Amino acid sequence: MNTGLKEQIRNRCTDLEIPLVGFASASRWDEPLFEPWVPEEFRPRALFPETNTVIVLGLPVSLPVIETAPSVHYHELYRTINTLLDMEGYRLAEWLVSRRYPSLWIPRDGYGSIGVLRENPVVFFSHRHAAFLAGLGTFGINNTLLTPEFGPRVRFVSVFTSAEIPPDPVITEPLCTHCMRCVEICPVKALSGRNYPEGLMDKKTCATRSEALFKRSISPCGLCIKVCPVGEDRQRYGRTDMRIYDEEDERYARYHQAWKHVRAFWGR
Ligand code: SF4
Ligand code: SF4
Repeated sequence: MNTGLKEQIRNRCTDLEIPLVGFASASRWDEPLFEPWVPEEFRPRALFPETNTVIVLGLPVSLPVIETAPSVHYHELYRTINTLLDMEGYRLAEWLVSRRYPSLWIPRDGYGSIGVLRENPVVFFSHRHAAFLAGLGTFGINNTLLTPEFGPRVRFVSVFTSAEIPPDPVITEPLCTHCMRCVEICPVKALSGRNYPEGLMDKKTCATRSEALFKRSISPCGLCIKVCPVGEDRQRYGRTDMRIYDEEDERYARYHQAWKHVRAFWGR
């Protein structure tokens, strides 16, 4: 196991201001931790047989931006984060290759368009499961991966590498508080309110809403991510009182006014 390489990758991420990085052995995909589990053809070694370790990078979704969702502001942030993730994943893979470790970058989405996702709401590799197996968080009722640092307000990219790097421990204590805010706010009732994976999201319904928002340049939806109380980012922004999202609450009127202003500007 290459501990020195792990340290170098962590230092590299610090220098590049990537706050979340986790490591999972490829063999973890072959030891199901719940059912339904990741099908064989979706596992790292099926996609890139040389894989010994999956490295997962995560960038935060700024809380004050997602509070405006659905909005053109969140739409632009989402695109920016996706671009940065793809760049950093690609660069890390090539950096490893230059050190003679065959490695492969996996794009952060991999479905082409929301219309395609609506028809077939599955991607060829799940970064959520990779982040879970790399010890970065646990699944919430909103079906996202909740992290201690940013709750569900984070996006991931993965790099497969032949390097044998010591894995990080999987988080076993669930972070979801079962507050049900995500279920209550979903405008299309795509969440069942049951724990993941028993309560799988209705992905087609969610994707249909995202597609409609995309046509107005205000996708993705993001409401179930916005209202999740989990994440240290809430302390950093002073957003621990969840009544801030109650638009009837006069104490937070200046916030509501700001969000309303941004939402008034559709992309087209
Ligand atoms: S993203 Fe929006 S539509 Fe999809 S589950 Fe969350 S709240 Fe519902
Ligand atoms: S909003 Fe509440 S129920 Fe939904 S994922 Fe977050 S903590 Fe869990």
